[in-house]
Amino acid sequence: MTRPEAARRAKAAAQFDKFDALLVTKPENVRYLTGFTGSNGVVFLLEDGTATLFTDPRYTVQSKQQTDCKVVIAKGPLTKSILAAFTKSGIRKFGFEQDHLNVAQFDALKKGLTLGLELVPVSGLVERLRMVKDAGEIAAIRASVNANSIALAQALGLFQIGMTEAEFAAEIDYANRKLGAEGLAFDTIVAAGVRAALPHARPGSTPIGPGMLLIDMGVFRDGYASDMTRMVHVGPATDRYREMYAAVLEAQLAAIDAVKPGVRTVAVDKAAREVLQARGLEKAFVHSTGHGLGLEIHEGPRLGRKDKGKLQAGMAITIEPGVYTEGWGGIRIEDTVLVTETGCEILTPTSKELFEL
Ligand code: ZN
Ligand code: ZN
Repeated sequence: MTRPEAARRAKAAAQFDKFDALLVTKPENVRYLTGFTGSNGVVFLLEDGTATLFTDPRYTVQSKQQTDCKVVIAKGPLTKSILAAFTKSGIRKFGFEQDHLNVAQFDALKKGLTLGLELVPVSGLVERLRMVKDAGEIAAIRASVNANSIALAQALGLFQIGMTEAEFAAEIDYANRKLGAEGLAFDTIVAAGVRAALPHARPGSTPIGPGMLLIDMGVFRDGYASDMTRMVHVGPATDRYREMYAAVLEAQLAAIDAVKPGVRTVAVDKAAREVLQARGLEKAFVHSTGHGLGLEIHEGPRLGRKDKGKLQAGMAITIEPGVYTEGWGGIRIEDTVLVTETGCEILTPTSKELFEL
């Protein structure tokens, strides 16, 4: 089987504009282009799509196993070896990832200026390619999303009224790890009652129930993220809760309905916002409708009010409108959705029916 990374490198190299080689320092981009998952790796990508991975002796074995690129094991700081390679290559114009170079790395590279090299700041080149997923990535996201849903079902099976938010979050995380997640994509959010009004609440010592419970959870599995928010009502739901839940669900479904290749991301956001606006809830919807996910939990495209961009088949995004009312609580419903040639596929298998426990 051919590895996907060579095709990705060729695509990245085809984007070179004002430079002849690109230095890739962002770990997710390094992984995307080479397969290497170590914490210390830098890729030097040439115009013809060939690449050299620079890492340190801790990763001698791992780098050999994970990548088909040429590997240089640097004995000292990577930048020193990279500069030597720069000089040897005969190339003069080097692009570097301006958003992902630390000051020490930049200072070291600046030494290259004295050698007559030109450093060109580059932004988002690999990230733009990463927005559209290939078949292997889609399979990995699907597996991550499915396992995350199984973890929620398992944790709910262990739920007891009076459990604290932190205890329930721990059950979710434990289930996810046992199901094979390599780590959490973000700190699990479990917010009970009025605390659900905080979109990014940290689980604490608040006992759960009776009342609403917001759960936002996701993991990395084989490098790829999942992200889901579900609401549970402990005990019988109130009329107000039912009304608010129906409004958010309608907004979420309207946004999903708008997802198609060629559609502007703002149009998807607007679809959700209009439903809430019609119910006077637009001010309670305090964040954007969604985000791309993949090797990072938050990546392009963004689906907010001001985001520019269009959906393309192969993008994996979340759709997650929510409403938050201080002193009452909050409701968010979030699925991971794949943009397909004809529309979209909801990857998240967990039901969105109003759920009373
Ligand atoms: Zn989420
Ligand atoms: Zn999300």
